[in-house]
Amino acid sequence: MGLLVVLGGGESGVGTALLAKEKGYEVFVSDKGEIKEKYKEVLVHNEIEWEDKMHSEEKILDADIVMKSPGIPDKVPLIQQIREKGITVVSEIEFASMFTNAIVVGITGSNGKTTTASLTHHILKQELNVGLAGNIGDSFAKQLLEENYQNYVLEISSFQLDDIMSFKPHIAVITNITPDHLDRYDYQFENYIKSKFRIAENQTKEDYLIYDADDEVITSHLKNNPVQSTLLPFSLEKKIENGTYLEGNNIKLNIDNKEFTMPTTSLTLEGKHNVKNAMAATTVAHLLKIRKQTIRESLENFQGVEHRLESVLKINKVQYINDSKATNVNATYFALESMDAPTVWIVGGVDKGNNYDELFPFVNEKVKAIICLGVDNEKLMNTFGNMVDIIVETQYMSEAVKIAYKVADSGDNVLLSPACASFDLFENYEDRGRQFKDAVRNL
Ligand code: ADP
Repeated sequence: MGLLVVLGGGESGVGTALLAKEKGYEVFVSDKGEIKEKYKEVLVHNEIEWEDKMHSEEKILDADIVMKSPGIPDKVPLIQQIREKGITVVSEIEFASMFTNAIVVGITGSNGKTTTASLTHHILKQELNVGLAGNIGDSFAKQLLEENYQNYVLEISSFQLDDIMSFKPHIAVITNITPDHLDRYDYQFENYIKSKFRIAENQTKEDYLIYDADDEVITSHLKNNPVQSTLLPFSLEKKIENGTYLEGNNIKLNIDNKEFTMPTTSLTLEGKHNVKNAMAATTVAHLLKIRKQTIRESLENFQGVEHRLESVLKINKVQYINDSKATNVNATYFALESMDAPTVWIVGGVDKGNNYDELFPFVNEKVKAIICLGVDNEKLMNTFGNMVDIIVETQYMSEAVKIAYKVADSGDNVLLSPACASFDLFENYEDRGRQFKDAVRNL
């Protein structure tokens, strides 16, 4: 089997190491940063050799195959050296998929991956033996080792797709494509688009690609770069011949003359973006032959995912909503769009070169006050200063929430939807969301 070097000792790295060891590889895990205690324990317990805060180049360059964790950019000199030596570099999903014949549903996109993957899994699990893995919870490799399901729903980031070779989901979903993570793609949007489309590169016409037909980035890329896959688009804007669309207030699926209808008003999740996510999940469920009644019931009782337009509490008839996972403008667009009452908007953090123009109509129409929550709020203050009567800044979540409490009137919403990354003031978006919820509960 030879030596497998795993670069990066996080969830996917440690999962790969365990699977590889089980399959008979000699395994070495190397991480330039510090490996978390819980992962170190797993490695030690399983007698897997590891190092952290360094890379032993000689040993690494001796590898037969390298698994590169998704967080490591290709530009890193060590990766260049590995490639120059002709050593095969794979991602965790590529490696793991070599050891299973399970049916794989792969879900990628700029926004909506976690929601769509969780919702899809929620529907499928009513009737199938199915795991949920990838960018969410356990790594694919770890689940294969421990559970060995017959079906998998995988949430897949573009970074995980960058190092695939033969990975092929039977059903692929691209939720949407908007500029994100461009620092990893030479600041070329086109490279990022290509990376997302790799989810379909090994598909044949027996496989399916489900995608948002209202997303012009996706449709124009498809037009210029046709894929082998059977295409199943979904749309909120137009009737689709073979796929899913809106007919009045109903989600209507029409695939190979089989139909399914469901009123959008019965969905537990709110917002147009979630109608899209529901369409994608419904299409997957239909392809895997889940009964209509099961699909309907599952869509009606899905509780959503933490930090994604999550209703926290109602205090004095003011609804507090945690959308901390909105780390880019597109996600915040759908959050603001779904607001049905005057809104106090908490926004800000690390700006990724944001262009806020598309938010202006919603801000004019619905936002009564803006609370900027970041180390550097200048761009937000300049952009929105003339649009709302009240705009303030703070560096503390507790203060942001207290101000929101003062400004909001009965019937209003208070929405945390930052449109920015969180690491200037918080550990990550989960930390930001939890601090918001704690502050609301302490009011
Ligand atoms: P991802 O896993 O791709 O980051 P999430 O499901 O975690 O996606 O959602 C991230 C953010 O994007 C949340 O603020 C959520 O409300 C929003 N969102 C969810 N689905 C969509 C969609 N289809 N289009 C745009 N934004 C979405």
